Amino acid sequence: MRLKDKVTLITGSGSGIGKSSALRFAREGAAVIVNDLDLAKGEETVQEIRSAGGEAVFLQADVTNPESVRSLVDGAIARYGRIDVLFNNAGISGVGAIHEVEPEAWDRVMQVNIRGVYLPSKYVLPHMMDRRSGSIINMSSCIAEIGLARRASYSATKGAVLALTKSMQVDYAPYNIRVNALLPGTIMTPFVEQYLRTSYDNPEEAIEGLKKRQLSGELGRPDDVAQAAVFLASDESKFMMGSPLYIDGGVVFG
Ligand code: NAD
Repeated sequence: MRLKDKVTLITGSGSGIGKSSALRFAREGAAVIVNDLDLAKGEETVQEIRSAGGEAVFLQADVTNPESVRSLVDGAIARYGRIDVLFNNAGISGVGAIHEVEPEAWDRVMQVNIRGVYLPSKYVLPHMMDRRSGSIINMSSCIAEIGLARRASYSATKGAVLALTKSMQVDYAPYNIRVNALLPGTIMTPFVEQYLRTSYDNPEEAIEGLKKRQLSGELGRPDDVAQAAVFLASDESKFMMGSPLYIDGGVVFG
């Protein structure tokens, strides 16, 4: 088991990549704190982990709300005594070129995708600093490095998360805390399905177009990203610090 007894908090783990990661982390021996805004989805993730014999608890919280995040972290510490791994995964999509995006929609994407990385990190880091140990995984995206049409707010947030990852790494390296970023390409999750439904008249045609942009010719699966997250969480990646890890089927070369 690659994550035996590692206490791991995964935000937004009621769905998609977060859920897949929660299941895989538990199979690798981690105790998983499943967080999501959505109570039903979060509890479903926990049930699946427990029925497979794993250890997990659901703690509902909104990653944009300081009080909510503080009680999430307090609850996790009360139950397990420590957090070894923080996976800042929760995120939402944003569609539109700058002139099409209303200020409220812009702000919401910034709140969830950037503040939602800042707040869990802010409240978990003091515990990791006390123990002089920890791994933080921030969810960026390959969109941070390639221009895609009508994704202005979303691209801005994922570029910010990549920059933040490097800055965090410099600040917390003295405490033996590693901070790395995941940069997935297009991974078929409810998030992408909704984006395709709302953005294209013919979502099937859009999927074929996306596949053609990949060197792999295929889109990714949530577990492709979950496996990369296990690697960053584990000591196998101990020489990776402030690094972007691409899981994108070669889309940046497409
Ligand atoms: P998803 O919609 O399937 O899952 C996201 C989860 O986050 C949901 O369960 C949602 O309820 C939760 N969430 C949203 N706002 C929250 C909040 N304020 N507080 C707590 N939880 C909240 O999406 P996904 O595709 O699995 O995406 C997960 C992450 O991966 C996101 O950060 C996304 O930007 C990133 N990402 C996804 C892809 C992709 O192609 N799917 C590619 C690159 C990066």
